[in-house]
Amino acid sequence: MSETKSAGDIIDARCTKCKDITNHTIVALVEAKIERVKCNVCSGEHKYRGVPRQKSTGETVKGTTSRRKDPVADERAEWETLQIKIENADSQPYAMDGIFRRKDVIRHKIFGLGQVVAIAGPKKIEVLFQDGKKLLRCG
Ligand SMILES: [Zn+2]
Repeated sequence: MSETKSAGDIIDARCTKCKDITNHTIVALVEAKIERVKCNVCSGEHKYRGVPRQKSTGETVKGTTSRRKDPVADERAEWETLQIKIENADSQPYAMDGIFRRKDVIRHKIFGLGQVVAIAGPKKIEVLFQDGKKLLRCG
């Protein structure tokens, strides 16, 4: 399993002309690092650009990079699974001087039902509501 490449090898690289990941032939190497490549699709020769890490051979990378990390969507999904559970759980009204523990289900006047997901610090709890996570004061 050697990573060593040599001129003439075929590799995947990003072609600026094709605007895609295409097969390239290595033209030049500098200190075992690929320097110049030639696109096998448009025959354009250019500096080597690596392909994104997640790419596995055979799959074409879509034009728009899919951004999976959306914290709001994550919290929304978390809420949806939680909602079913907490609707049937015993809830207690939220009070600023109340004592709450992790997984307690509370009722907030504005935010509605929520579950304590973390103790955020002294006198602070993190609660997941339908609107997302909120930091609330507690006793
Ligand atoms: Zn090309």
